[in-house]
Amino acid sequence: MPRATLVEVIREMGMTDPRLLAAFAATPRDRFVPPRSISRAQLDQPIPIGHGQPTSQPSLVAQMIDALRLTGTETILEIGTGYGYQTALLARLARRVYSMERYADLAEHARANLAAVDVTNAEVVVGDGTAGLPGHAPFDAVVVSAAAAEVPEPLAEQLTEGGRLVMPISGTIADIVTLFTKRQGRLIQQRRVAPAQFVPLVGKHAKGGDEPPHRSTCL
Ligand code: SAH
Repeated sequence: MPRATLVEVIREMGMTDPRLLAAFAATPRDRFVPPRSISRAQLDQPIPIGHGQPTSQPSLVAQMIDALRLTGTETILEIGTGYGYQTALLARLARRVYSMERYADLAEHARANLAAVDVTNAEVVVGDGTAGLPGHAPFDAVVVSAAAAEVPEPLAEQLTEGGRLVMPISGTIADIVTLFTKRQGRLIQQRRVAPAQFVPLVGKHAKGGDEPPHRSTCL
């Protein structure tokens, strides 16, 4: 039997939003992994991209994006660009994406990968994403692709009223990808999206995001 495509995997997990499925179909993951890993790009697995960092498992990326319920009008802030795979998907589903990456060489790869698939509405910024991008705030949605014990305060501040924020909150056994919404100026926990293992969010405003020795793997 032929292997299921990534779109089929995502659909079988219960995600039926046609826009989400179309975005995945239009975004070749082969472009967003290092050349040595191209043969594994269509597997629903994380893949190392350097600096001990992974590009996330596609079905997890799908669940995080699905939770945002994007309509195409949004301005999004993404923290943790990596090789830009999630950035490309977000760009196809929203108006504009600002994505922050702490490693300049990963950001450079992401820019090239995004250009190669004709994404023109995403900007990759090198810097500490825990501070957000106040110059472009507020954001209708925020996605964080690295784990910390709490949502960094600047990211909550830069989210628009009624906006959605998805982030893995670190736990002892697993991280819990959690959906928040902003109501009356405060972040309200909406639901748990999925358990997962993320790399730590490393930055000035990250709580519990420092790199402990047992979290050095890149799942
Ligand atoms: N969204 C990516 C996931 C990349 S892994 C994908 O779909 O493939 C997480 C990324 O977060 C790593 O590249 C890491 O360097 C980055 N990161 C961690 N802390 C960060 C911070 N404070 N600011 C910006 N990027 C950060």
